[in-house]
Amino acid sequence: MDSLSLIAHFQKIIGKEYVLTDSNSMAPYLIDWRKLFRGKALAVLLPKNVDEVAALVKQCHQMNIAIIPQGGNTGLCGAATPDNSNNQVVISLKRLNHIREIDKANLTMTVEAGCILQNIQETAASANCLFPLSLGAEGSCMIGGNLSTNAGGTNVLRYGNMRDLCLGLEVVTAEGEIWHGLRGLRKDNTGYDLRNLFIGAEGTLGIITAAVIKLFPMPIAQWTALVAVPHIHSAIQLLNLFQSQASVLLTGFEMMNRTSLAIVGKHFPQMKNPLQPEPNYSILIELSDHESEFHVKELFQTIIEKAFTDGLIEDAVIASNLSQANTFWQMREHITMAQVEENANLKHDITLPLSKMEQFILETGEKIEKQFPGIRTINFGHLGDGNLHYNFANPENMASQDFQDQHQNTIAEIVYEQVEKFGGSISAEHGIGQLKLDKLRAHKGEVAHDLMIAIKKALDPKNILNPNKVLPKYTPK
Ligand SMILES: Cc1cc2nc3c(=O)[nH]c(=O)nc-3n(C[C@H](O)[C@H](O)[C@H](O)COP(=O)(O)OP(=O)(O)OC[C@H]3O[C@@H](n4cnc5c(N)ncnc54)[C@H](O)[C@@H]3O)c2cc1C
Repeated sequence: MDSLSLIAHFQKIIGKEYVLTDSNSMAPYLIDWRKLFRGKALAVLLPKNVDEVAALVKQCHQMNIAIIPQGGNTGLCGAATPDNSNNQVVISLKRLNHIREIDKANLTMTVEAGCILQNIQETAASANCLFPLSLGAEGSCMIGGNLSTNAGGTNVLRYGNMRDLCLGLEVVTAEGEIWHGLRGLRKDNTGYDLRNLFIGAEGTLGIITAAVIKLFPMPIAQWTALVAVPHIHSAIQLLNLFQSQASVLLTGFEMMNRTSLAIVGKHFPQMKNPLQPEPNYSILIELSDHESEFHVKELFQTIIEKAFTDGLIEDAVIASNLSQANTFWQMREHITMAQVEENANLKHDITLPLSKMEQFILETGEKIEKQFPGIRTINFGHLGDGNLHYNFANPENMASQDFQDQHQNTIAEIVYEQVEKFGGSISAEHGIGQLKLDKLRAHKGEVAHDLMIAIKKALDPKNILNPNKVLPKYTPK
């Protein structure tokens, strides 16, 4: 079938206006958020419900057309961008954006894949419930994308990542069948866990069209502070202190080194660090309580006083109201945007055992600074989860693009070698996509990698779902 007839088939399934083929309307779907990856597509398809998705996939399966599922297109590994063959289609889930049900008694919500994360949070809040997944891109990323990347964010410490927040899925398989797995059960030991195969698969095993997600009672009080610590050692000791004293009330513990907040202040002057002089590390801490404002405040103050006495912190600013707490969070969330403004920079989203974190940072920092004098380390992350965004920007005397072109591979090699040495992971929460495709086999080991390929071949024998992402191309049957 030629491409014109194929397009006509797609138009018949979802309507002419939802099959985009002109370059202007397709453009935003063909480039990733960081503008590192660009691709081409036969068409961008915008189905409105699961049946339309299934019909489109059936058609593609029959014609051997590769499909790139896409949500909010905020992913940071190029996983939602087609290749340059012009033989692939993008299926955007954005029109599947209905909240199907809120079950308050079961503390669950059934949402379609194209629901924007922030809308889900707000709908949950209007029912006095909390949906805790929270990340910088929440105004545009979609729950299908969050599930497919097993997104993390700032609340993992207390509530877990997306995998922990999902109970059931509805999925269109590579052959266009619909798996109706929308169960709101917290226990279900009935054989293989299909749900967890699709979560984190980055669209390579099936297209998620809806999910049952967990809700939690809304905390009645939150207490937020920004504290200054002199070095990473005290940051980790402070985390341990909060974990031992506040236990599950600790809902946020974000670390930001001086350069991270300096670039936020430079590009977003309204978000200047209130801790002055700017410390080596600023830590954003949040406690959430279901008891009372008084209780959380008392607890917070007791822990902070002990931290001062033990010499762990140098300074602290406690948010006096919700608006100031939001400003602290905005500072944290704007680091990624500030890095974009700062132009090319090298990102490494890694995790390490907390017990190895300090040694990793000191040793790796020394190696890199020795080889690249003047390099700027933008080191921040969800310290409570052992997750570092361990990024680098050009020395002041070198153009950022030259820095990226000439040194990104060497720096990545050093970072990933150190990650292996300290028993960490090369991807904490962003995924593999096309960015880290070539690193996965060495990192996972041959047995794990071959098992992943076997799963992919079983679920998508024609290799039409997001090929060459996560796993390398293989010859289909
Ligand atoms: C400013 C900023 C801050 C960020 N902060 C964080 C953070 O703190 N934590 C974190 O984990 N991530 C973070 N991210 C990365 C990104 O937002 C997440 O990966 C998010 O989950 C991606 O969702 P999306 O809807 O944009 O997915 P997309 O980018 O559209 O897609 C991501 C992957 O999922 C697949 N996919 C999308 N929808 C479906 C579906 N319905 N079925 C099957 N496959 C699908 C795509 O093919 C692709 O492989 C951040 C990004 C930005 C820009």
